Amino acid sequence: MQKGRVIQSTGSWYHVDTGKEIIESRLPGRFRLNEKEVTNPIAVGDWVEFELNDDGTGNIDKIHDRENYITRQATHGKRGEQILVANLDQACVVQSIKKPKVKEGFIDRFLVTCEAYEVKPVIILNKIDLAKSGGLEFAEELSELYTGLGYTFLITSIDNSDSLQKLKEQLKDKTSAFIGPSGVGKTSLVNAIDPSYDLKVKEVSDFSNKGKHTTTYAQLIPLSFGGYLADTPGIREFGLVNIEPWELSLFFPEMLEPRQECQFNNCTHAHEPKCGVAQAFEDGEIAASRYNSYLNMLDSL
Ligand code: GDP
Ligand code: ZN
Repeated sequence: MQKGRVIQSTGSWYHVDTGKEIIESRLPGRFRLNEKEVTNPIAVGDWVEFELNDDGTGNIDKIHDRENYITRQATHGKRGEQILVANLDQACVVQSIKKPKVKEGFIDRFLVTCEAYEVKPVIILNKIDLAKSGGLEFAEELSELYTGLGYTFLITSIDNSDSLQKLKEQLKDKTSAFIGPSGVGKTSLVNAIDPSYDLKVKEVSDFSNKGKHTTTYAQLIPLSFGGYLADTPGIREFGLVNIEPWELSLFFPEMLEPRQECQFNNCTHAHEPKCGVAQAFEDGEIAASRYNSYLNMLDSL
């Protein structure tokens, strides 16, 4: 019996990384998960145990419990859902100061999704080289806001090596995903910290192309300095998971205390009288951008 990490799947074959080598493995027979039925019994990112066959392939016979997982559709915990990637140490939202301009609403939605999935969030603000003096102040304010809430906030530029070094340390030996709109610099950042990355994506894709479900499964790409990056098209749909309106404020750390002052137990903090959250916002204890994001998300639930 050997242990390894599933870093890739074609739907019938799984690439299991033991840390020393990669074993092409199969899942014999019908295999069901106990608690929840999912369309893919093994997800990329799963830790598994397998028996080695004489021909060098593996037979998976145990899947370890998942720390967390993110799904394709925004239906976390529902039947028939597809797991995109399991056991993420962190998800990194990437935004840029300009071209395109940072959207706080995107960051806040991402943070709520991370809280709901129980994945640690990291915020990356890229292209700081494009900031004029006002832009630098704005970046600093954002950094203070989010670090004040307990989140990790990195300011980067692909031509600032100190910032790239910090990013590298943040990713080292962890399994991470980059989330963000196109054009913010996700690809550039990865290539700047790991120049061999593109080559590895290609190797891994050559394997996937043998399978039918090429685009539906995630893959973990090993980083040259240790750790993995989850690479998948579907990950960009990292949307809002199913949350009840009254629950939403539980995912805003700065609302936890104020909401205890609300008159109603199921207060949504939008229009109710004697609302502790609205009061905290009026007193300047909750940032306008955050309250605004909250109200927008509430509307979309
Ligand atoms: P992705 O779509 O998020 O993967 O973004 P890309 O990595 O393709 O980058 C989009 C564009 O932004 C490219 O023209 C990059 O050269 C540029 N870019 C990326 N990072 C930076 C940065 O830190 N500063 C500046 N000025 N441009 C950047
Ligand atoms: Zn309230």
